[in-house]
This record gives sequence, C-alpha cells and structure tokens, in this order.
Amino acid sequence: MAKHLQDTTIFHNGVKMPWLGLGVFKVQEGPELVNAVKAALAQGYRSVDTAAIYDNEAGVGQGIREGLTKAGIAREELFVTSKVWNADLGYESTIAAYEASLGKLGLEYLDLYLIHWPVAGKYKEAWRALETLYKKGRVRAIGVSNFHIHHLEDLMKDAEIIPMVNQVEYHPRLTQKDLQAFCVKHGIQLEAWSPLMQGQLLDDQVLKEIAAKHGKSVAQVVLRWDLQNGVVTIPKSTKEQRIAENAEVFDFELTKEETERIDSMNENLRVGPDPDHFDF
Ligand code: NDP
Repeated sequence: MAKHLQDTTIFHNGVKMPWLGLGVFKVQEGPELVNAVKAALAQGYRSVDTAAIYDNEAGVGQGIREGLTKAGIAREELFVTSKVWNADLGYESTIAAYEASLGKLGLEYLDLYLIHWPVAGKYKEAWRALETLYKKGRVRAIGVSNFHIHHLEDLMKDAEIIPMVNQVEYHPRLTQKDLQAFCVKHGIQLEAWSPLMQGQLLDDQVLKEIAAKHGKSVAQVVLRWDLQNGVVTIPKSTKEQRIAENAEVFDFELTKEETERIDSMNENLRVGPDPDHFDF
C-alpha cells in the first residue's frame, strides 16, 4: 500500500507512475494554472495530467519548467500525461498530435499518452500510432481513456501492445467493478478521473461520518479509497491548500468495512458522458 506521495504503481512494461497526481481539466492558461502546477511540484507531487483538448498544455509546460527548477528536481523524476483528441485520431494525425502536444508542453517526451475517447472506427489506427511512438522510444507508456470492456477487447484483438492504463470516470457513485476486474486481469492500470465527482460528493453523510472518524476531509477519504482499491488518482484543484490537502492521504488507512461501505455507494452514476453514448 502506498505510503508516500511519490510512491508508484508499476505498469506491465516496468514503467512507474505515481499513485496520485494533479489534474488540470478546465483550468485556463494563465497564472492560476502555472501556479497550481508549481505548487503541486513544490509539495511533492510528481505527476500531472493534461490533454490537448484542455487547451492548457503551454501553461502546464511552463508550470513544470518553473516548478522543476524551484524544487530542484529533474524532468526524469516527473510523470507527465497528455491525450490525443478525437479529431486527431488516425495514424499520421495522431503522431502529428503527439508532436504538437510535446511542442506546447516544451518537453522532449511524455511519460504517458492516452487515446482520450473510444471513437468508433478510429481508435485502432490511433493505437497503431501510439505503438509506433512507443516502439521508437518517443513515449514511455501508452494507454487509453474512457474505454469500456468491449472497447478494450476490440482494441486488443489487433493490438501488439496491451494498453498500460485505462483512465476512466471513477468515484464512489461509479465504481466500475467489472471494468476494474478486467483491467487487473490484463495488467492494465485503472486510473480515476473526476475522483471527487467534481465536488459533488463532499456533502455525503456516509463519507462525512468516515472522514470524521479519521480526522480527515471527505476528499481525503475518497482519494484514500482510490489508493486502497489500487486505482491511480488525479484530483484537480487550483487552490494551494486543497492541492496539499488532496496529497495528505498517505498517513491513514480505511478499514475493510469502510472501503466496502464506500463501494456500496455505487449507483452507476456519471458526471461525464457514457463512453457508449458520446457525440463529440
Ligand atoms: P475532480 O473530481 O478532481 O474535482 C475537481 C473539483 O473539486 C474542482 O471543482 C475543485 O475545485 C474541487 N476540489 C478539489 N479538491 C478539493 C477538496 N480537497 N475539497 C473540496 N473541493 C475540492 O474533477 P475533474 O473532473 O477535474 O477530474 C480530475 C482530473 O481528471 C481532471 O482535472 C483531468 O486531468 C482528468 N479528467 C479526465 C477526463 C477524461 O476524459 N480522461 C475527463 C475529466 C477529467 P478547486 O479547483 O476550486 O479547488
């Protein structure tokens, strides 16, 4: 069990990824973004999750550069994820999108590059592109996002490389047990997006009760539940205090009864689109 903010999971290719990182969805370019990334690095975060569609890779890159210098750490100590957007899914277009993301971020390589959504008829060509980037040593790990079991099965029929990661919506109201079991079986690391259900869980009575018992916040309990379930997590905040709070989840442990109680909150409820029904 992870004991420290910099503790990692190990992918099937041996690459290590921190269990907890910073998300930056909906954070616009500007000082708030740069400062959030810098604050996270200063506090010991070593993983940042962005995407081409967030339109903030330049600011994330600036935050990384300034944050690394300030914290006195090397690029190799950091884990950076980005994602190819739907409009760029295709062999050549995905490779071009990867280079464009690197350019904006000002990085030589990414640690993880994901197919953002499983657009029917397009993700296999994009996967071939990711495999090429991986085999050429341009990216350390490749994966997918928002893939249901059937998308993974379909991809893996033709894939040379099994995805290292599947990043999906995952929180106490959407526990995705079957998907997680499938991922565990195939050595695919499950990663939670919207782990805090975009703030919608903070008033939940069960979570409040468990949080009070541990002298922790609801956010901390939910993030701890991710870790104890073997799920990588990337809560988003731009507030320095919350960035710190979200990382203080390595000094307590939920009991089996508590994790099961949280598991039982599942309602298959999404804040984002269902990967079987999206129109973008
Ligand atoms: P989260 O579940 O991380 O919730 C973020 C919200 O919770 C923000 O409004 C934030 O506000 C608030 N918050 C954060 N920490 C606390 C806290 N300790 N106490 C109270 N409120 C808090 O939602 P996201 O949708 O941002 O998901 C996380 C990350 O996952 C994204 O940033 C992105 O990187 C990734 N993602 C990936 C998707 C995909 O399709 N692959 C889709 C969606 C997200 P504030 O900033 O004001 O603190």
